[in-house]
Order: sequence, then C-alpha cells, then structure tokens
Amino acid sequence: MTTCDCKNTCTPTPVFSQIGKPKGNSIIQDILALASRPEVISFGGGLPSPEGFPLEAVKEAADWVIDNQGRRALQYSAVEGVMELRTALAHWETENGVPTKPEEVLVCSGSQQGLDMIARLFLDPGSKMLVESPTYLGALQAFQLSQPEFVELPCDEQGLNPAAMGEECRGARLAYVMPTFQNPTGRSIDVERRKLLAEKAREYDFWILEDNPYGQIYYDEKPALSMRAFAPERTITLNTMSKVLAPGFRLGYFMAPKIIIDALSEMKTAIDLHTATYTQLITARCLELDLMKKHLPYVRGIYKQHAECMLNALETYLPKHPQIKWTHPKGGMFIWLELPENVDATELLKACIAAEVPVAFVPGFAFYANHPKHNTARLSFVTVPEEKIVAGVKTIAETLQKFL
Ligand code: PMP
Repeated sequence: MTTCDCKNTCTPTPVFSQIGKPKGNSIIQDILALASRPEVISFGGGLPSPEGFPLEAVKEAADWVIDNQGRRALQYSAVEGVMELRTALAHWETENGVPTKPEEVLVCSGSQQGLDMIARLFLDPGSKMLVESPTYLGALQAFQLSQPEFVELPCDEQGLNPAAMGEECRGARLAYVMPTFQNPTGRSIDVERRKLLAEKAREYDFWILEDNPYGQIYYDEKPALSMRAFAPERTITLNTMSKVLAPGFRLGYFMAPKIIIDALSEMKTAIDLHTATYTQLITARCLELDLMKKHLPYVRGIYKQHAECMLNALETYLPKHPQIKWTHPKGGMFIWLELPENVDATELLKACIAAEVPVAFVPGFAFYANHPKHNTARLSFVTVPEEKIVAGVKTIAETLQKFL
C-alpha cells in the first residue's frame, strides 16, 4: 500500500449512490468509439440530418424574438412552458388529428428529459414496467435510474402485438411504446393494434407512455393517429422538436390529462424550473409562421431518399438467405436487420470496422430490456451520403458472407 502525504488534499474516491453510480456497461459506446475515425462510414448514430435544419427561418425567428421580446426571452418563465408555445403546439396537434388544449401540453427539455420524469413519477424500485422488445436504448437507460422490473411485450413483424398481451401485464403501472416508426425497428402498428392496445391498457389498468419523435417524418402516407386518439384518459404522449426543427434546442413536450400535467409541473420545478425561455419563444415564432408545413416536406424528402437508397443497396448486395431480413420503414430513421441465429452482430461489427472500407452500426442486443437477440442490428441512414450508404452496405454484405 502506498502512503500519501497530501493531508487529504488529493481527490478522494467518491462514494456514489447505488442508483447513480456509473455502471461502466456502455459496450455500445466503447464499440462506437472505435468507429469514430473519420474514414468509418457510420450507420450507428441516431442524429437527424443537419441538411434538414431550417437555418434561415430559425435566424429570422431568433432575430424577431430578440427585437420584440428580448428581455422576456432572457428571463425565467412558467414551469409548464411559455403560453404561446403551448398554444401553438396544441394547435399543431389538433390540426394533425388529435384535439389538444394548451393546458394539456407541458414543455420539457427534450423528450429524453420527459422519459426520465415519467419514470420518476410512476416507478418505485421493483415496479413493473412494460416495454417493447426491442425498444429505444436511451429510454431503457433513463428508466433504469428508477430501477423498475422490465417486462418485455410480445412483438412480431408488424411491431407490438397487443393480441398476445396477457397476464404478464397485470400489476404494471406503465407501458412504454412507440407505435409509429419505432426506434430501433422503424415499424408502425396499425389502427386495429392501437385500438387493442387501448383495450389491454383498460383491462390490465396501466398507463400508456407513447414516445412519438418520428410521427411527422413519414415518407408518403400519414401514419395512424396517436394513442391519445384511442385511450385519451390514460395516454401520456411525448413529442419533440428534435427531428422536425433542431435537436440542439432540447425542446420536447408532453400531452396528457391534467392530473399528469399537474404532477409533472411540480416535478419539473424541482428538476430545472423550466425549459429555456429563449428557445421556446423561437420555436413558438417558427410555429406561428407555419414553418412546420413549409419545412417538413423537405425533411421527409431527404429521409425518404436515404431510406430508399439503403433499402435498394440491402436488396442488391446482402447475401440471399432465408434468415437474413430487414424492415421496410415508411418513415423515421432506422432499418432493423435480422441475421441468421449463429451470427453475432457484435462480432460482425468488429469485422466491419476492420474492413478495407470500414463501416459501423449498432448491434441490436442493446435494445432489449431482458432477452437480447444477438443476431440483430440497427442501421441508421439519414446522415450518410448516398454513395457512402452503398459502399457501407457492400462492406456489411461482404463481411457477412464470411460469417455464414
Ligand atoms: N425517444 C426516441 C425514440 C428517440 O429516438 C430519441 C432520440 N434519439 C429521443 C426519445 C430523445 O429525443 P430528444 O431528447 O432529442 O427529444
């Protein structure tokens, strides 16, 4: 043992809480760090395409806010969000098919904060929480801080399958679902499944937390309505400006019955008082100027083009094999790849990163709460130029051939 004569001026080893202490389980981060070399083509990230950021419109709105509301923009504001924004968001959601009042909207600092808040609101250590299988990794990480007992819901090639939900749901307080262009699979559930999910929630008496960041990023056809149209009394919907405007704004919002909005307001006061006033006012101004309608078709166009490019490349280059399949999303940012059962996607990833034209993706095991499927992978296509999408898929195909 070495002795130290610092007289307690060295940084001591901190004693962290059970819940808060770093788990050091970020295998994904370790792998993707390997992939951060500039020559690596990355299908790993979940970033929206910066091409889709409406720089000019945001500049105009920001200038307007400073010129007309400057002092207010730099001041503290209401915990629920500034009224113009809540009103504009309620109007936007109503126009999109689900009547919403401003009082049913609460602004949060990105939907990631929303996930954390709902977990804290509903879960005690050991509380039963229902999640899709697979589901969004970042949500699992947020929920884990509340130490629930995860129960994986039955999912098939059409996404969540409520018909197969049964006794495992009894006693759960909450189900976390992404009915539209799910992360990581890109799948959406149809109206029948949405109705059935509402029925199951009533039968087993759980709340639905619907995460809907990709609902507006449809390529052609508008998707089915939010779960709030099917179970308004027990659905909490989380939406975000991250995919349609700017993730750097850290601006998300809840829509929920008043009893939930009131509880969330109290919690948000304790957490961070409110979401940044300035970005809320800029966003409100963008919405008032109808930016969404003017801008979204452009964003949808970029995503559709990239999705088609990757789907064509997968069809052209991946080995023909009955157990190699992938999803064909109609919106959003992700394709889910399933490989033969003996292929471990983490091993495939390591080989792909070492290839002549190196490529990275996220191995699918990380998206499962309890029972990982190691022969799966998530491919993200929106930030990769088309010629690199093709080159990257070729690498995956050639490398995969050696694993078969
Ligand atoms: N939910 C899902 C399903 C996501 O994919 C993301 C972003 N990757 C988030 C929530 C978090 O989004 P934000 O905090 O930027 O609103």
